[in-house]
Amino acid sequence: MEHSKQTTGGARPVRRVVIAGGGTAGWMAAACISKVLGKRLDIKLIESDEIGTVGVGEATIPTLVHFHKLLEINEQEFMAATKATFKLGISFEGWRNVKEDYIHSFGMTGTDHWTAGFQHFWHKGRERGLAGDYGDYCLELRAAQEKRFAHLPRDGMNYAYHLDATAYARFLRQFSERHGVQRIEGKIVDVTTSALTGHIRSITLDSGADIEGDLFIDCTGFRALLIGQAMKVDYEDWSQWLFNDSAAAVQTMSVGEAVPYTRSIAHGFGWQWRIPLQHRVGNGIVFSSRYAGEEQAIQALMDNVEGEALMKPRVIKFTPGQRRQVWKGNCLAIGLASGFLEPIESTSIHLIQRSIVRLMQMFPSDGISQSDVDEYNKQAWTEIEHIRDFIILHYHVTNRGDTPYWRDARNMDVPASLRHKIDLFRETGRVFRISNELFAENSWIQVMLGQGVMPASHHQAADLMGDIELSQFLGSIKGSIDKTVSQLPSHQQYVERYCKSPM
Ligand code: FAD
Repeated sequence: MEHSKQTTGGARPVRRVVIAGGGTAGWMAAACISKVLGKRLDIKLIESDEIGTVGVGEATIPTLVHFHKLLEINEQEFMAATKATFKLGISFEGWRNVKEDYIHSFGMTGTDHWTAGFQHFWHKGRERGLAGDYGDYCLELRAAQEKRFAHLPRDGMNYAYHLDATAYARFLRQFSERHGVQRIEGKIVDVTTSALTGHIRSITLDSGADIEGDLFIDCTGFRALLIGQAMKVDYEDWSQWLFNDSAAAVQTMSVGEAVPYTRSIAHGFGWQWRIPLQHRVGNGIVFSSRYAGEEQAIQALMDNVEGEALMKPRVIKFTPGQRRQVWKGNCLAIGLASGFLEPIESTSIHLIQRSIVRLMQMFPSDGISQSDVDEYNKQAWTEIEHIRDFIILHYHVTNRGDTPYWRDARNMDVPASLRHKIDLFRETGRVFRISNELFAENSWIQVMLGQGVMPASHHQAADLMGDIELSQFLGSIKGSIDKTVSQLPSHQQYVERYCKSPM
């Protein structure tokens, strides 16, 4: 984009929505807005085939299942179209220490008592030699270990998807166009704002066309053409806690059955993902340029992929952090334009979805009010801070000390909110979810135990149980999970039966 110019103009009822960018963020926004308000709005989406999308972002979390339900998207059609597989969690390999692994699954572990979470009973069982691994009491985790999957009655299995990002955008494009969205191919070269209101008046394309609107949604990815360049909203850099600022991605042929989890394999200066789809595997390494050069990182990636590479590794640079405001004037940023932490817990697509749902709840049909904008920004900021803390946890709490990267992560000062959570768990075994926080107690517990924090004590409620009672309690949970898992089909078989892509 060359420059931004200003004219006069004012805020008005929102009838014309312009979405700039057609990656996952742009098309998810287009799909949802058109499905809900398509009959009342004029919705345009501008994208440039020449520029393309970031091309990664293929692991999701269970909230996407709900998003699709809101849009009444048929799961089998979606999965076949995006060559998707099921995801039950993330396998963290070498994170606690070299060669020590754990799974953060999407399931609930054990059964809580109202006074005390299951971890207290498990902790006592562990002390008394009566309990197995914490993960033995979680259905999704055990199913992941056994590489099995099936839908269970009453939503008895929590899951997400691995999907082909390019195919997902295509799928959502068809959906959106059916609901009235007009796609415009072209490169954005200019953004005109009003000198009076500071609002965006129009976007100019390389063809010379001016696209006017009432509400502009910036989905232009890391370029942030609207929120950053035109509206000049600053970016808060969190690289003091999140060291990674680079990634290299490569797709490979599948060589075996698709496992129902993302693999996250730690390296001395970052980590590597493996995302199994029906037709290929997505791989990438996320690393810090302070600790490793590009060539070194790519070498580490290529030494650890299975199957023939389908492309040359592609390097992506980013600054971990968040825009100070995601909504300013009549411009709302969604997706990478609004910020990016890093992909370790697959939270980015979830945040896109949250941004869209929040927009629908506050849709400014009668004109944009500053109190809506302030509320939106406040909610978005709180949400991202919680996720930031959860991500920092993975690096800070580790027994690894084999490289400067891990030593520095272990020794860094973390945000006070995170420090408190870790100390509370370490001393008492307690975890409390802050309202609206994405990651619930059980996620924090799985990751803290997985990363090597063992609480010093447990709640008295667990002490009220004698050994026999406790043993029966733990045994009955484990027995019922083992039985269910043994009856599940293999994940690969299930995908082939349920949603096989025509390829
Ligand atoms: P993009 O995909 O970059 O789309 C930007 C759009 O804007 C494109 O259509 C482009 O053509 C258009 N555009 C840009 N400039 C112009 C212009 N001048 N004119 C016209 N159009 C323009 N998220 C997850 O949830 N799970 C993951 O596993 C995950 N892994 C990731 C791994 C890495 C290494 C990275 C960097 C990100 C990952 N993410 C992940 C984040 C995820 O990729 C993004 O949130 C998601 O793809 C949305 O991207 P986007 O639509 O905001 O941007």
